[in-house]
Amino acid sequence: MLPDLERLIALQKLDTTADAARRTLAEEPERERAFAARLDEASQRVAAAKAQLAENQNARRGIEKDVAVHQGRLSKFREQAMAVKTNIEYHAIQKEIAHAQAEIKTHEDRMLERMLEADDLTAAVKKAEADLAAEQKAVDGDRKAMTAEHAELQASLEQIAAERTGIVDALDKQTLAIFELVSKRRNGVALAEARDGICTICHVRLRPQVFNNVRRNEELIQCDSCNRILYFVAAPAAAAQNP
Ligand SMILES: [Zn+2]
Repeated sequence: MLPDLERLIALQKLDTTADAARRTLAEEPERERAFAARLDEASQRVAAAKAQLAENQNARRGIEKDVAVHQGRLSKFREQAMAVKTNIEYHAIQKEIAHAQAEIKTHEDRMLERMLEADDLTAAVKKAEADLAAEQKAVDGDRKAMTAEHAELQASLEQIAAERTGIVDALDKQTLAIFELVSKRRNGVALAEARDGICTICHVRLRPQVFNNVRRNEELIQCDSCNRILYFVAAPAAAAQNP
C-alpha cells in the first residue's frame, strides 16, 4: 500500500475517534442537567408527601378544637340539667346534650379517619425519602462514572493529538492539504472504503477502471461524487472460504 494512503487511513481513524470523544464530552452539561432533574423530581415528591402530612396534622388540630368546643357545651348543658325546674326545660336540655354528644361522636369518627390517613401519609413520606436517597446514590454513581469517562476521553484526546502530529509530519504536504480540505467539507470524514465497485459512503458506483486502480491502493484516488479519498480493504478470502 502507498505509505501516505496508509497514513491517511490512520489519520482518519484518529480523527473519527477524536470526534466521537469530543461529542461525548460536549454532551456532559446535558447529562448533568438530567441528573439534577432526577434529584429535583425525587425531592419534589418528598416535599409533596410532607405537605400532605402537614395538611392532615392541621386538620386533626382543627377537629381537636371542635371536639373541645362541643365538650365545653356538653359540660355546660349537664350543669344546667341539674338546675332545671320543669319537664319541658329538662327535655330541652336533654336534647341539647344529645346533640352535643352526637357532634362529638361525628368529630371523633372524623378524627379516627384522619389518624388512619396519617399512618398512610407517614409511610408515604418515608417511602419518598427512601426513593430520594436511592436516586441520590444512583446519581452519585452516574456522576462518578461520567467524571471517570471524562478523564479517559481527555487522556485519549491528548494521545490522539500526539499521534496525529507524528502522522501529519510524515505526510506529503499536498496530500495532507487534500485530506484536510475534504475532511472540512465532508463533516470530518475524508476517506471512504471502496467495496464491490462502490464508494461505501456516498454509494456511487465507480468506473471499473477507477475501482481497479483503487483496489491496488497504490495511488490517491478521490471519489468522483463525494471527493473522498478511496481505499480498498482486501476481503479475508481464505478465512471466508475455510471458516
Ligand atoms: Zn463517494
